[in-house]
Amino acid sequence: MSIKLNIEPINLPGVSTDRPLVIAGPCSAESEKQVMDTAFDLANQGIKIYRAGIWKPRTRPNAFEGVGSKGLPWLKKVKEETGMYTATEVANVKHVYEALKFGVDILWIGARTTANPFAVQEIADTLRGMDIPIFIKNPVNPDIELWIGALERINDAGITRLAAIHRGFSSYDKSVYRNNPHWQIPIELRRRIPNLPIIIDPSHIAGRRDLIQDISQRAMDLNFDGLIIESHCNPDEAWSDAKQQVTPNALACILNRLVLRHADVDNKDSLTLEELRTQIDKFDDEILDIFEKRMQIAEQIGTFKKEHNITILQTGRWDTILNKRMAMGNLKGLSNDFVEKIFSAIHQESINHQTKIMNDGISEDMNSDKH
Ligand code: PEP
Ligand code: MN
Repeated sequence: MSIKLNIEPINLPGVSTDRPLVIAGPCSAESEKQVMDTAFDLANQGIKIYRAGIWKPRTRPNAFEGVGSKGLPWLKKVKEETGMYTATEVANVKHVYEALKFGVDILWIGARTTANPFAVQEIADTLRGMDIPIFIKNPVNPDIELWIGALERINDAGITRLAAIHRGFSSYDKSVYRNNPHWQIPIELRRRIPNLPIIIDPSHIAGRRDLIQDISQRAMDLNFDGLIIESHCNPDEAWSDAKQQVTPNALACILNRLVLRHADVDNKDSLTLEELRTQIDKFDDEILDIFEKRMQIAEQIGTFKKEHNITILQTGRWDTILNKRMAMGNLKGLSNDFVEKIFSAIHQESINHQTKIMNDGISEDMNSDKH
């Protein structure tokens, strides 16, 4: 079921409507010089929208929490001297008023704020009656409803120039990504709200600059609308997110290397081939996870059988399993042949895992009467 939001094009005069919409700039505004140097370099590369965090949500106190309002005149200067549009993160009512006072053109709501409906509602109430593009980052946790809820709150306040920013999701598991992209979530967002522009944030997904190219390409192959990429005149010296920022030059290379493919269908409501493949990847990953869990149980059974001196193979049990699975498979439109092959392979793998458990320590035990 798709959700009806009242969405109008972002429409920034002078900014091309071709994909991708590009937003670039440092994670944080640090000094007037850093803001201006980066801005001039980006403007020279053809960038039209400049991002810079003024207030930074930091996990621990005493980290650099942004320069605060004193950085806003620098953004105003960027606008005046380069002609770029400016964008910054707002997390509360004061931020909104301050940013607007200095002519910031686009406001975004950060991942931590999107996760808090009270904060989003307060920002929505403040924005009522204004005409400014608002970009909403996904919440830190992989909860699409929370993301949609924030979009609805802002849209209900009369903001129609809306976009979503996908910056990946925080996860306890170790992974190469700083924030797991879980591509199926923005794809689902696209399915639920087909006319909502979705901008990908490869910097915060990756957490490291060498992954930005691939993630940006993936974003384009999945037919998303834009990219927001952190760029700094001297990335290694950045006061926040140093590892994931690129120089304006490197950014230009990344953008030039992007291959823009056509969606294989004209209808934006339909999923593209790449989107469908992402869904297949997700299911295949899930299948492997389930196999892993199934084998862990098989090993527990192995331990039990070892302790109770029971043989691994009990033919009656295997026949019952296979018949049950084939009947279930039939109901799901899967052929007997397929179900039998799959479950024979699973059964064999389970036996291998159990055998390994049964044999653990057996070499020292060679002369015992257990086998
Ligand atoms: C940022 O864009 O610098 C930022 C803090 O992002 P997020 O809210 O995605 O963590
Ligand atoms: Mn950042």
